[in-house]
Amino acid sequence: MEQWQRDIKDSIDDVETLEKVLGVPADAVREIVKEYPIRITPHVLKTIKKKGDAIWKQVVPSLSEGEEDLSCASGDPLHEEEDSPVPNLVHRYPDRALLFVTNQCPIYCRFCTRKRFVGSPGTLTPAELKQVIDYISAHTEIRDIILSGGDPLMVVDMLLERVLSALRTIPHLKIIRIGTRVPGSLPSRITENLCLMLKKYHPLYMNLHFNHPDEITPEVATACGRLADAGIPLGSQTVLLDGVNDDPDTMKRLMQNLLSIRVKPYYIYQADLVRGTHHFRTRVEKGLKIISALRGHTSGMAVPHYVIDAPNGGGKVAILPQETLLYMDENEVVVQNYEGKQFQYPQAKQAPAVGARSPRPYSMVPFHTD
Ligand SMILES: *Cc1c(COP(=O)(O)O)cnc(C)c1O
Repeated sequence: MEQWQRDIKDSIDDVETLEKVLGVPADAVREIVKEYPIRITPHVLKTIKKKGDAIWKQVVPSLSEGEEDLSCASGDPLHEEEDSPVPNLVHRYPDRALLFVTNQCPIYCRFCTRKRFVGSPGTLTPAELKQVIDYISAHTEIRDIILSGGDPLMVVDMLLERVLSALRTIPHLKIIRIGTRVPGSLPSRITENLCLMLKKYHPLYMNLHFNHPDEITPEVATACGRLADAGIPLGSQTVLLDGVNDDPDTMKRLMQNLLSIRVKPYYIYQADLVRGTHHFRTRVEKGLKIISALRGHTSGMAVPHYVIDAPNGGGKVAILPQETLLYMDENEVVVQNYEGKQFQYPQAKQAPAVGARSPRPYSMVPFHTD
């Protein structure tokens, strides 16, 4: 057994251990954990400093998960099941698809979008993999596949390699991505052997899940360094969570610390409307404030896209603070920088289109500045 597998064995995954180690009364959360399993790795446990802190909130079950909430009534608010042409594959966007490799995760985030199935046993079978490969082979428009789950790094190297090598038989599939929380929560999984295997399947990208600066420990920095040294470009995905990271200072530290461990911030997500997660939701104004506090105030490299994954399968929509482009007409635009200072920028003259009678009129951008 490898160290990472021992770490999984040594994780908190039942209410009795949870009570013993963290003092959460087992009887209070027993029913919740039956529906939504727990797992807290020894590494993550070490990063909990006190009851109710940012790490605790993400992994320790709370009674709020059992509350009914009308805004979060669905198990599958993104309609992933409706956009699934074959089991374990979600094909929503024209040129890319999402593949669920396993239901297992290193930790079970209490706000998970896929609370409906994570934690139950189950890993892609050879027959299911074949169906997926057949579908992607027949759909030549798919050029990008994202391995997800669950967490694709929770399967042993041999199984993961079986998936990667099968995908690499498809000529039109240019890019493979892996979405994972493993480097930040089970860093022992990022072994030299894993990296040697992964680097055979370039171009391979990884997006790593991080929500709080306390998650970036020396062990995590080492794990990310190994992946980066294997030539894997690393991005991050963060969920905006009430009481965890919903303030500009925490987010700025997180994004800056990610860059310093060679991870380029990619997305901040508005929380999805998932049953059992309503207590994590924040208002969109908070996300906009965070983006405004980043842009211009720190490295542009540290500024991710802020997105809402639209309910009912609408897909990701980027949300931008609106106070940057104040005015636009055919002659000029007026922009506002991060300090609130305004600047006029002249438009290029429009070249008359060949055969056009008159230039198309520009529309005014209906922005307001209050
Ligand atoms: C997020 C997502 C993708 C990838 O989207 P990008 O914006 O390209 O990162 C692909 N498919 C589904 C179903 C997704 O939810």
